[in-house]
Amino acid sequence: MTDPEDLVERVREDDLRIHELEDHADHDTAVEARRLLIERETGTDLETIGDYGFPAEAADSTIENMIGAAQIPMGVVGPVAVNGEETSPNSQNSASSANDGGAASGDYYLPLATTEGALLASVNRGLGVIRTAGGAAARVTKNGMTRAPVFRVEGVVEAAETVEWVTENFEALREAAESTTSHGELLDVEPYVVGDSVYLRFAYDTKDAMGMNMVTIATGEACEIVEAETPASLVALSGNLCSDKKPAAINAVEGRGRSVTADVLVPGELVEERLHTTADAIAEANTRKNLTGSAKAGSLGFNAHAANVVAAAFLATGQDEAQVVEAANTITTMDAREREDGTTDLYASVSLASLEVGTVGGGTKLPTQSEALEVLDLRGGGDPAGSNADALAEIIAVGALAGELSLLAALASRHLASAHEDLGR
Ligand code: NAP
Repeated sequence: MTDPEDLVERVREDDLRIHELEDHADHDTAVEARRLLIERETGTDLETIGDYGFPAEAADSTIENMIGAAQIPMGVVGPVAVNGEETSPNSQNSASSANDGGAASGDYYLPLATTEGALLASVNRGLGVIRTAGGAAARVTKNGMTRAPVFRVEGVVEAAETVEWVTENFEALREAAESTTSHGELLDVEPYVVGDSVYLRFAYDTKDAMGMNMVTIATGEACEIVEAETPASLVALSGNLCSDKKPAAINAVEGRGRSVTADVLVPGELVEERLHTTADAIAEANTRKNLTGSAKAGSLGFNAHAANVVAAAFLATGQDEAQVVEAANTITTMDAREREDGTTDLYASVSLASLEVGTVGGGTKLPTQSEALEVLDLRGGGDPAGSNADALAEIIAVGALAGELSLLAALASRHLASAHEDLGR
């Protein structure tokens, strides 16, 4: 077995580079040597970073230059009551009466990893209300992971020629793209022209994978045909119309990954008993804050804090955390619905246009993250393929709905409390 001290010495003597340690020792020894080196170079003690609970080799495809693990506290919220007839008598209570058709069905404990105190407590309060209301309905309404290469052409004449060829030869593009994957399916290629640049936004059903690697490889193959058959020359495999890890209206409008909506109808009595406010007050807070306030701010997100639940779920279940950006464009609606007896219920919904999730590949393979997926019974590929990632998207959406409900109620009840004071009651 290699002594980590020997490796440290060899790096110090410039005999080895810091990223080459795994070539000369097993993964855990390489990680230890690199950590020792950094401790000495920086005068630090990294004992806790080095105290990770999985074989370093298991992280090989997810990190380079590993020195340990950032340990983020993980908790659970729930049960999250989604769709299922047994757990959610939605025919009576939910705004969407159809119970079948959702990928998720039943009660789930949702693991969340965060450093924000009070987040899980708040989400749990919202989930309790949703459960008592009979559960939330959630559906993936669109699915398409995108990659949009950019091509150079001479001018508009060549641009039009390229667009025409692409439009008429979808089958050839599909065949090329799908030759690189046994799961991915090319759904659409949408052309955009800007002067002498042509962007082709490829959209794929990536089944249970988030799919960025899959679609990048597949699109690369399809681009070779575009270059062979049209005047266009590939400049970059990603031309930012995809749009990955940047706030972008195209994702909010067209969707990216899963477009998922969750909703619930909360009886007025429940709003008063458990949330200490009224449907009208929550609806007003939502309109003035999430809709009008966000519009005035020029925000792409019309919600209170959907990214909070998405980020915590992403960290717990091994999603690509930078893609929280795309999920932040969520729209939250809250409306007071009058009943025949004159009382008002609260209709609440969240629509996440671009939630990029997977249950295979990427960080989902890491031991802690895959255990978290097991808590949801969603580890690995689903049957049929794609159903596990759909279910994960639906459960996260209901978690986000609970977070919105709880926070808006907290804001609205404060308003209500001050109104009571003003009225001397
Ligand atoms: P991946 O780990 O590269 O690949 C997942 C593979 O799993 C699929 O390609 C598929 O193989 C296979 N698979 C097995 N069962 C499957 C099932 N039921 N459904 C779908 N696929 C199944 O993961 P990825 O999801 O394509 O990409 C995610 C990774 O990309 C993350 O690590 C992320 O950080 C990274 N990323 C990459 C880029 C980029 O531009 N390359 C950008 C952002 C993020 P077959 O294709 O052979 O069927």
